[in-house]
Amino acid sequence: MAEVSTYRLLDGKSASKAIRGRIAQEAAEVKTERARAPHLAAVLVGSDGASRTYVDAKVKACETAGFRSTLIELGADTTEDELLALVHRLNNDPELDGFIVQLPLPVHIDEEKVTLAIDPRKDVDGFHPENLGRMVLGLPGFLPATPAGIVELLRHYGVRTSGMHCVVVGRSNIVGTPMSILMSRNSEPGNCTVTVTHSRTRDLAAITRQADILIPAIGRPEFITADMVKEGAIVVDVGIHRIEEPSRKRGFRLVGDVKFDEVAPKCSWISPVPGGVGPMTITSLLLNTLKAAKG
Ligand code: NDP
Repeated sequence: MAEVSTYRLLDGKSASKAIRGRIAQEAAEVKTERARAPHLAAVLVGSDGASRTYVDAKVKACETAGFRSTLIELGADTTEDELLALVHRLNNDPELDGFIVQLPLPVHIDEEKVTLAIDPRKDVDGFHPENLGRMVLGLPGFLPATPAGIVELLRHYGVRTSGMHCVVVGRSNIVGTPMSILMSRNSEPGNCTVTVTHSRTRDLAAITRQADILIPAIGRPEFITADMVKEGAIVVDVGIHRIEEPSRKRGFRLVGDVKFDEVAPKCSWISPVPGGVGPMTITSLLLNTLKAAKG
């Protein structure tokens, strides 16, 4: 008899819809109290196709939640000084609760300098060292949007993680490293025993196969295959890649870091791409902006 797959989807689209409904209610209350809606600005430098798509999605999500949003588009030839001057203006704009500078920036601009220039109180992406430090110490602040969105996703579906072995693949400052910290915190979701892996890890598959929760944030399409995953594992796929496919209307399809079709049947829970972590990242951004608006 054919085996029946029983995996459940960590559906970020559906979770986001529910959470954004609550955000919209709270945004309306903030608007009544302060006579203005929460306000997020997004800065886009250059015309990278994927960045444009992400920024558009963020702006649209703001509008749907009843936030005010401002999109600031700058040419690819914008200088570092010009961008820093804009960041300074946004830091001091009393009508603005939070803002993001969409990454990656053109190579002639130092991303670290720009991140450091953002006022931590308006840093709703949660990338500023002050906010990262607060996260490490468990103090109030803005959590990095993608890892925080993953925690919200697990929470939404009532996935209990206490005592589990969580393997994070990737150690970037914006995803892998903060993810490993959040999963090891004394909270639920959290309370995991965490292993962080990266490109220098020896025999990665031997480690991923031990994961009760596997969180790949690698940036390599369909890198995680079925033989790297334990039966019954929870898999949260952070990766997002455009694979050219001329037969499609958009000319591409989206895939994650996980080979979904072969991995999903082994999982208890798995997040899809698209419709998994992506929408939750935007939901986190809205949660952070709402928090900034409440002061
Ligand atoms: P980075 O490129 O900054 O980091 C990738 C990490 O993966 C690095 O730590 C790297 O190791 C590690 N890595 C690379 N190759 C291997 C390998 N063969 N084996 C083990 N580890 C490896 O990427 P990000 O963290 O910024 O993003 C990761 C992915 O998530 C990307 O696909 C990105 O598009 C996606 N993403 C999705 C978001 C969403 O909202 N859905 C938001 C943010 C990112 P080392 O440090 O040694 O180089």
